[in-house]
Amino acid sequence: MNCIYLSKSKYCKAKQCNKILWLEKYKSSEAVNVENESALENGTKVGEIAKNYFGKYTNIEFNSDLSKMILDTELQLKNKPNIITEASFNFDNNFCSVDILKNDINGIEIYEVKSSTDIHDIYLDDVSYQYYVLDNLGFNIKSVHIMYINSEYVRNGELELEKLFNIKDITEIAISKQNEIQEKIKEINEYMQKYDNGENEPEKKISMNCFDPYECAYCNYCTKALPKNNVFDIRKMQKSKKFKLFNEGKISFEDILYEDINEKYLEQIDFELNDKEPKIEKDKIRDFLDTLSYPLYFLDFETFQQAIPEYDGVSPYMQIPFQYSLHYIEEENGKLQHKEFLAEAGIDPRRTLAESLVKDIPKNVCVTAYNMSFEKSVIKKLAEAYPDLSEHLLNIRNNIKDLMIPFKERYYYCKAMQGSYSIKYVLPALFPNDPELDYHNLPVVHNGGEASYAYSDLVNHTKEEQDEIRNGLLVYCGLDTLAMVKVWEKLKEVANIINI
Ligand code: SF4
Repeated sequence: MNCIYLSKSKYCKAKQCNKILWLEKYKSSEAVNVENESALENGTKVGEIAKNYFGKYTNIEFNSDLSKMILDTELQLKNKPNIITEASFNFDNNFCSVDILKNDINGIEIYEVKSSTDIHDIYLDDVSYQYYVLDNLGFNIKSVHIMYINSEYVRNGELELEKLFNIKDITEIAISKQNEIQEKIKEINEYMQKYDNGENEPEKKISMNCFDPYECAYCNYCTKALPKNNVFDIRKMQKSKKFKLFNEGKISFEDILYEDINEKYLEQIDFELNDKEPKIEKDKIRDFLDTLSYPLYFLDFETFQQAIPEYDGVSPYMQIPFQYSLHYIEEENGKLQHKEFLAEAGIDPRRTLAESLVKDIPKNVCVTAYNMSFEKSVIKKLAEAYPDLSEHLLNIRNNIKDLMIPFKERYYYCKAMQGSYSIKYVLPALFPNDPELDYHNLPVVHNGGEASYAYSDLVNHTKEEQDEIRNGLLVYCGLDTLAMVKVWEKLKEVANIINI
């Protein structure tokens, strides 16, 4: 007898690790939210738009009483031919809702909708589980499909669903997985029966599975017994390499200190264990600073992405810039000045942003960005979209220098950077205890992910709320470029350069 009511999401979680289901049942408060709000919102929008793909459809409304959804589905299945979305079924305590179900006198077709631009293995498990439920209920399943986003699509006028979505027939794969699914369901039920007491916690060693296909929400919980400063704290090291060391019992920094690994990893460990003084290579810092010149600009963009492009010329998940902050100093000993741009809500922000950018940054000036590949790619896309502005935009792009280099190359490194060269680590390392440079103290928006979501969600707020959010966005992006100015000043200071 089954002891758990499975759904397709529970089945997929158990494919990753059975213990996730146990923790969800007995220790759900230990979960850490690893999902990003923008991604969730994009997923919901894709699901809703996809329902229209085959034309008129009947939706089975969600009901926490799943038997109601199953009953509604049974009624709709009688109206052949028809398209049913969220059609819901239960076989032997294995429940599933089918995103889109095509139903005619010859049988049914299953369509699972994904907001991703690729097909991941876990999607095959997801759809094969649905096949298992419906096949065991006696349906004649003609075919099963995954519907996913076509990253090549560029919107031009009305949304063209047949171009926006790719559809892959995976019927053969689903059929080939049926024995595996039956075995896995049996295994899940035996596992949950064996550990049916919340006190009787199953032991499970962490592995690559904890991050594949998704980062598990219980990673913190399952790693809490590890020592502070362990192999998983080594920045930029591949996960597979970390797990190799972990499985060899080389877990703490002390264990790893004499391993044959990249010198940057060893340097991080050395600084942590030996509390070393900052490493400052003055000549290299000076050489880097020599590449900068006045007038000197500090630029940072904020962007958002749409799975369903709402504007002409936009592809799914393209980075759409909606905001920038610009600090600048005209001449040596000049005053620090600031300009900024934040688009209105609910419009394509790119043209007005591009026009503002070419007004704010003259040609042939030195522009700095932190991790410049991002700013460069955004400007390149703007130049492609607006040929009349492209010469100026590309001039700005060609004059960008990367302020991250001294930290990425470790010309300047200290323990507090913890192996990272991200500005979110570098800034507090260079300016500890400065509340004005602390992102935690900001109102409303504290990181790029929050900024993206806040902007794309602006239209759903009242005027007063919008004003507050917009202010939060301006303060956040302004701190990004002020931080760059402070970092540049610190580089000059440690390299003993009074002025460049
Ligand atoms: S963190 Fe790893 S071991 Fe723990 S429940 Fe998640 S996948 Fe399983």
